[in-house]
Amino acid sequence: MPKVLLIDGNPLLWRAVHSSAMQGVSQKVLTYFFEMVNQFVPDDIVVCWDKGKSRWRTEIYKEYKAQRLQKKKDAGIDWDGFDEQSMYIKGYLDSLGVRQFTIPGVEADDVLAWLAEYYVSVLGEWGVILSTGDRDLWQLVSEHLQVWDHQKNLFVTQEVAHEYFGVGTELIADLKSLAGDVSDNLPGVKGIGDKKAAVLLNEYGSLGALLDPANRKALESRKTTAKIFPEADFVGEMYRLVKIPTLAEGMYCFSEQEAAVFTEAATKELSVDTFRMQILSQRTGKHFPLRPELLSRRSADLSGMVDYMQAYAPPGRSWESLRELDWAIAECNRCPLRSGCSEKGPLMAEGADDRDIMILGRNPDEVDSENGVPFCADGAVGGELGEFLKQIGVSRDECWFTNVCRCVSPDNRPPTYPEMLACLPYLRAEIDHLRPKLIIALGYEAMVSVTPYRSNVSKHCGEILDKPAGLVGAVDAKVAISVHPLAALRSQRGEVELEYAATMLHSLLTETVVS
Ligand code: SF4
Repeated sequence: MPKVLLIDGNPLLWRAVHSSAMQGVSQKVLTYFFEMVNQFVPDDIVVCWDKGKSRWRTEIYKEYKAQRLQKKKDAGIDWDGFDEQSMYIKGYLDSLGVRQFTIPGVEADDVLAWLAEYYVSVLGEWGVILSTGDRDLWQLVSEHLQVWDHQKNLFVTQEVAHEYFGVGTELIADLKSLAGDVSDNLPGVKGIGDKKAAVLLNEYGSLGALLDPANRKALESRKTTAKIFPEADFVGEMYRLVKIPTLAEGMYCFSEQEAAVFTEAATKELSVDTFRMQILSQRTGKHFPLRPELLSRRSADLSGMVDYMQAYAPPGRSWESLRELDWAIAECNRCPLRSGCSEKGPLMAEGADDRDIMILGRNPDEVDSENGVPFCADGAVGGELGEFLKQIGVSRDECWFTNVCRCVSPDNRPPTYPEMLACLPYLRAEIDHLRPKLIIALGYEAMVSVTPYRSNVSKHCGEILDKPAGLVGAVDAKVAISVHPLAALRSQRGEVELEYAATMLHSLLTETVVS
């Protein structure tokens, strides 16, 4: 018997809107609600609601769910009535002592995922049921977490998810990055649908493994897969959108205000206000059954979760020296990348602290990690970077080499947005101590960290900005943008773009600037 029932409120609401007149929507949703309560008899219930699009996903990709506004206009729905019905439902559940989360700019999917992760860690196997009709949340299905699809009357197990997507739940985000997702307005790679993506992922093992430059020739030789490598950067952006962040990463998806809303909802004492419930019943003209066992109990205690999340909050202090910073990084366990990092742990920057040029990459690959050197000259990527440096007339000894994330990622997949945000305080401190005159930002992750740009790096390749600001904050240096050397190993277009960036940088360096 489950102890906690987590409910994704919006799919219930939409189901009711499509099957009932507007004035009956609240009645329908509450009927669905009590059906589940009667079926699972949980100890605690938490309901999460959407309010607006995901702020941080829209920051990465402004087209995210952009089609929905028009769809909303075209739907012919009485939106005032809809809002009123939602208010009744939320008010009624509140009066029952059901804890509800509605955080503007943070999707219910994300909040549900964090709650599920927390409860599974506290309650163990089969302690949690997550009710949703949204297949994005199937990413969470594991041997410890059951998803319940109320509309289909179906438990989504790993087998059910595998049958639907053709891949394991751990590869659903990889699949959507390649094939896209019409409902979220994510285009995917041209010519690659769900089936093709599943075949490729089963063949290569994961998105990261598929995008290994060693596979470029084989994939480009096939018409159906020829577009994958030229679109590799874009696929990385899509991955960041569709991958549901873990609980530790949750802190980085919140603004300060959102974190406050979350904390308040997670820790507040709930009380039963039967009078309010009666008023609501009168106003809706409906009578909903009361469950005394729900009324008598304080709902789920999430204060431990807030402490847990706050342990991952960005550090509020700066480090006295680069050496002290290295110690902090060596101990770091702030994002999930650390668990997959080899025994060697996070990779430190390389260079003497009087260097004027900072080379900023994405995160180390296995070769870098094994050798303990970012952009190790023995690796394919380091070799490509060596050529790039020659072209711009700079030697390795003149540069400081560092990365946005310090740990390797599984199969060299792109780091997620929250993983980047978790690691960026280190880069901030590094920039402050080193005070470079020029930062060469290689690839999307580096570009968004030190510039205001959020679109494809190809669009800005070769640009040189003076004292821009990015996710890391204001940067008191020139920043040159280039595709990552990995892009040159992955496609001809990447080679051309890297060469173009080298030409622009060469002229900059021969003119003045780093003197
Ligand atoms: S990637 Fe960065 S934030 Fe994540 S564990 Fe490694 S050092 Fe820490």
